[in-house]
Amino acid sequence: MAAVAEFEDDSEAVTALIAAATTGRFDHTLAQARQTRDWNLAKEALVKDLTDAGLTIIDEPGYPSPTKSLARLAVSAEDDTPLSEVEHEDCPGHVVWIGRREVEVDKNGKPVVLPPEPSIEAPDAPYDLDDHYWFVNEPDDYEGDDPRAGIAPDVLAAYDEAQAEYDKAVDEYQKALAKARAGSRRVTLPAAIYGCREWAERGHHDPHAYHSPSTSKPKASEMSEAEREEAKKARKVVIDNNKAWAPALDVRREYVANLAKAKTPPKGTQKFLATALTEDARLISDVTARHLAGDWLGLNAKNTPKAAIEKATDNRALVMTLIRVLAAYEAPLGGQFGRGEWRRDGTNNATGRYLRFLESTGYALSEVEKFAISKKTA
Ligand SMILES: [Zn+2]
Repeated sequence: MAAVAEFEDDSEAVTALIAAATTGRFDHTLAQARQTRDWNLAKEALVKDLTDAGLTIIDEPGYPSPTKSLARLAVSAEDDTPLSEVEHEDCPGHVVWIGRREVEVDKNGKPVVLPPEPSIEAPDAPYDLDDHYWFVNEPDDYEGDDPRAGIAPDVLAAYDEAQAEYDKAVDEYQKALAKARAGSRRVTLPAAIYGCREWAERGHHDPHAYHSPSTSKPKASEMSEAEREEAKKARKVVIDNNKAWAPALDVRREYVANLAKAKTPPKGTQKFLATALTEDARLISDVTARHLAGDWLGLNAKNTPKAAIEKATDNRALVMTLIRVLAAYEAPLGGQFGRGEWRRDGTNNATGRYLRFLESTGYALSEVEKFAISKKTA
């Protein structure tokens, strides 16, 4: 309960934490309280910067609203150059509000710094690469001569060397990329969104404005009171669950990291592995997953996977296998497409199988994770 002291100035968080202590979901509540606190601190700092810069800060405009973000606006109907923030500074309608942006952070919450892309370019081949491909890989379908025949040996040698160098650079880059992203996840942070609240009067143009009267989504004004309530409720579920998904990931990863220390596998491991290899084998080869598992198992240059397996008992080796497979399920959930995973029907998908297994080993699912394993969609 020492963690409660972190929130001594926030009575709402303290009440929630104390209530959660008896439900087995204390860790989830704590992670959410931390996320809210980090968000608020980042927002305060941002508001201060914007105020110091003398900008007009407004509440995030609803919809419809006479205010539009610059990202939507072009200079004029005749000139579709997008309005830049610097260019727009002097417009009397210039305003800013606090929106959100997604950033990729490492396991310590620091923004991921990606390695520079290799500056080397693929060398020009002295022959037709397509022909070469067919000649080498599909000889039965290829009807021409060896595309390399008749080319001076020193030209071929120089090209092969340049190509090998290029392949090496690309390979190193891919490895550095996977390392930088090991255990990474996407989080949403407050961001300054610039806009214009007099865009129509000031002659800016919205090229994206929707003019067609037919639309699949009914307008709020065309809905009945009950329909409006229903739509509002559905929207709240999406907002709440989107918000809860990232802190749940932190708690879950810490849980699996602890599981990785075990000498013997939890009950149900063999059956889970059999299902994983039958249904979800495509997930295993992901490089990020390999790094995440290495992280959990404490593997590194000294304690190589080979050495660790060598000295493991059969039981420990099974734990290592399990952790490697769990990482394959977990890694994509921190990626760009993992954020929407909770919205899908979880009764027969990879994420559902993964979370249900964790639950069977004693992991307390958060509300959003319960949604993720359910038949419900959003
Ligand atoms: Zn303007």
